Amino acid sequence: MLVTGTEVLTGIISDRNGPWLSERLRELGVDLARIVVVGDRPADLLDALAQMAASGLALIVTSGGLGPTADDLTAAVVASFAGRELLLDASLESRIEQITASVSERWPEADREALRLATRKQAMVPEGATVLSPRGTAPGLVVPPADGAGGPTVVVLPGPPSELQPMWGEAVGTAAFKAAISGATVYRREIVRLYGLPEAEIAATLRSAAQAGLSLDALEITTCLRRGEIEVSTRFEPGAQADYDTLLAFLAARHGARLFSRDGRTIDEQVASLLLAGGETIAAAESCTGGLLAARLTERPGASAYLVGGAVVYSNAAKAAVLGVDSGLIAQHGAVSPEVALAMARGARERFECTVGVGITGVAGPAGGTVDKPVGMVCFAVVQGAVSSLGGLRSLIRTERLAGGRAAVRDRSTTVAMHLIAALLHGERD
Ligand code: ATP
Ligand code: MG
Repeated sequence: MLVTGTEVLTGIISDRNGPWLSERLRELGVDLARIVVVGDRPADLLDALAQMAASGLALIVTSGGLGPTADDLTAAVVASFAGRELLLDASLESRIEQITASVSERWPEADREALRLATRKQAMVPEGATVLSPRGTAPGLVVPPADGAGGPTVVVLPGPPSELQPMWGEAVGTAAFKAAISGATVYRREIVRLYGLPEAEIAATLRSAAQAGLSLDALEITTCLRRGEIEVSTRFEPGAQADYDTLLAFLAARHGARLFSRDGRTIDEQVASLLLAGGETIAAAESCTGGLLAARLTERPGASAYLVGGAVVYSNAAKAAVLGVDSGLIAQHGAVSPEVALAMARGARERFECTVGVGITGVAGPAGGTVDKPVGMVCFAVVQGAVSSLGGLRSLIRTERLAGGRAAVRDRSTTVAMHLIAALLHGERD
């Protein structure tokens, strides 16, 4: 994958095409060897293409540099790389003219000649290439190596993700693309998620799996830490399904409930289904997370079926006024305490008239920590009961000491809260 654009190289924008195409290629059983980023300089582009060809890659996908301006030179560079002449495609030219007609109407004083040249530039196509219909004004290209010459096929796509993504399907359907990936295999990918253990423990588990004689050679296992959870992603060819099943059973036996997702579903998806299945409604009362949990609960479409609302109660006065937290309780235990977290959760459930209330209060840092309540200490409470019930609530209360800076503590707090909600809805009680 060759990402072009000085704005990506310099970090002004971050690359969204490489990761997106990586997923698409995996679905096709194509092993992505590397993502290279180069600026808008023809020599750098050509050099990157030559290096990829030298390492024997079958397919190169480029993004960017297809626009009408002088720094858009990908089509010309790829043509010269593939040893194909750049020729004017007259029918493509009139198609682009039609697309840009509305632009000329909107900018009547625009320079007609400049527009004509821009259109012509975008209609220059390497001889023998397949043209992919423009989603903006720039067409994409599938460029096989020159006849008789070996080398990679190059798929040339525009830079804006909104143009690149809808064009991908068309590129995949071309004969040249199919020929280039004829050696591809089929990959399956399975994801499991764990919570509440350090990453090093997964490494240890995998070592003992190997020692126990499990065959792991056909499995490509990647573990990564994400928002306080461990994601274990395994890629394998269909023949290795039995090896994977054995590994999964090994993980489950060793880590029990800490392996909270065997099918890749996130804790957010699980919480959403649990709330929906139980007909529950939820509200959050947040101090140190400032609404991040409520925001996380609204990420999924359809959240209105369970999320009622949230209150950001940063000051002691707001905790008392908005949620009815007893100020005596705050004076006695401090704002960061399990007692106050519980009162916040109860207050949220009552004031928002729902079945589940969540309270989060903690020291996000970097300042404000004490010996008793250090930076990263966060108290959580989740309560559940029928809307009308005053007493007899089921609850879970936890205090965690979270590592990392302010942003990490705040983000991790929402993960802890999500797991606590799931645990309560699964029937766990303090
Ligand atoms: P245009 O016709 O818009 O110029 P182009 O194919 O020439 O399209 P570029 O000039 O490289 O593409 O990029 C145009 C814009 O598309 C960038 O300013 C950026 O906003 C977006 N873009 C380009 N490449 C990427 C990328 N890898 N990831 C995310 N956005 C990108
Ligand atoms: Mg451009």
